[in-house]
Amino acid sequence: MFNKLSIRFKLVVLLGASAAIALLISSALTLYSTYVTEKAEALRGLKQLGEVSSENLRAALAFRDAGSAQRILSPLHANPQIVAAFIEDEEGQAFSCYFAPGLSEEKCEQTRQAARATLGAVQKRNNGVELATFRHLYVMQPIMFEGTPIGTLSIVSDTSAIRVKLTRYIKSQLMISVGTMVILILISIPLEELFTRPIFALLTAMREVSRTKNYAVNVQLTRQDEFMDLCQGFNTMLAEIRERDEKLSTLATTDALTGLANRRHALEKMEEMLARARRKHEPLGVIMLDVDFFKHINDTLGHPVGDTVLREIARALSGSAREYDLVARIGGEEFLILCDNADQETTRAVAERIRARFEDSVIDYGDAQQVRVTVSLGVCSEVPYELTVEQLLKAADAALYQAKESGRNRVEMGRVL
Ligand code: GH3
Ligand code: MG
Ligand code: MG
Repeated sequence: MFNKLSIRFKLVVLLGASAAIALLISSALTLYSTYVTEKAEALRGLKQLGEVSSENLRAALAFRDAGSAQRILSPLHANPQIVAAFIEDEEGQAFSCYFAPGLSEEKCEQTRQAARATLGAVQKRNNGVELATFRHLYVMQPIMFEGTPIGTLSIVSDTSAIRVKLTRYIKSQLMISVGTMVILILISIPLEELFTRPIFALLTAMREVSRTKNYAVNVQLTRQDEFMDLCQGFNTMLAEIRERDEKLSTLATTDALTGLANRRHALEKMEEMLARARRKHEPLGVIMLDVDFFKHINDTLGHPVGDTVLREIARALSGSAREYDLVARIGGEEFLILCDNADQETTRAVAERIRARFEDSVIDYGDAQQVRVTVSLGVCSEVPYELTVEQLLKAADAALYQAKESGRNRVEMGRVL
């Protein structure tokens, strides 16, 4: 369930939860230490009261003067926390007692029993006993006469004042916590952006790349942390993919020896040129060129010289092509030249110029060595309303065959039958 939530929401929840836990722990610790301090403080006060009172009660108990003992205990009502006080002699017999005003008899008896049970479990000591439960504080102070214990004074106080203080503390702490949480949530919204912005930038870029296949996307970040490393890594990865893509597409479309378009790419391009010519009602000129007696060059000068000659022929053909023309190597020593918007006359003129160029010049190879080559060309030009690539190539090929048959170093025109 949590995993399905957005990263933005998770961050706010995380910040809120951490703050809530921190507040909870600190409040609980403060609450506990306040409780312990307050209790110790109250016990100390009660013990002092017990010491003073037991000092005053010495004579009253020694002379068994219950009235005077009552008078000594009566000021205890000034302290509303004190529930009861009992004086017992050395045999444990009740001598005198005090109960807070308004306490029912039944409650008085319960308090006395509870105090007996609690304090009775503790061994009497000459310097007194202090005990605290959640609801009550107990102090038992010995009453000494001339160095001898003659009885005890037990005082019971309730802890309601401490509990009221703690309740007030919890309420204020709750209000502070709610306020802090609201402030934290408000702060966490811009804070969360600090983390999510680079993630969303990466996500947007990744979606853009997978939608458009455009690897030129770049994620820009102006920060110095790990997110920048991540973005740089992402950008580098895209650049590498782009580079590899370009290499692959070059490999797939180019002839490795001459750098011209290869047969497959030439046929694809020819389809496009054909479609454009059809749309514009323009003629498309097709020239198929084959080097004459090329095998002889290979056989006499060697295959590497043959390669050099092929490269030079490719260079010469590219140099004579116009912007929208296409020159491709479609076989061993066979080339295709597609002339955009060229009628029969123009295409023939282009082919003738190429033929003459090779006839009139030599190709350099190696150390000032030269070889003369001639080429045969088959030409056709049509407005390809209903014609296909295959039909045009077939016509040019037939014309090329004709040129070879007619003695080579020639241009022959062909027509789609
Ligand atoms: P024709 O005038 O009838 O065209 O004669 P030709 O010798 O040119 O014809 P053929 O098709 O018999 O020979 C073509 C030769 O081209 C055969 C092959 O060894 C050579 N060849 C094909 N590809 C390459 C290449 O990449 N490099 C080199 N050096 N030679 C190649
Ligand atoms: Mg050939
Ligand atoms: Mg040939």
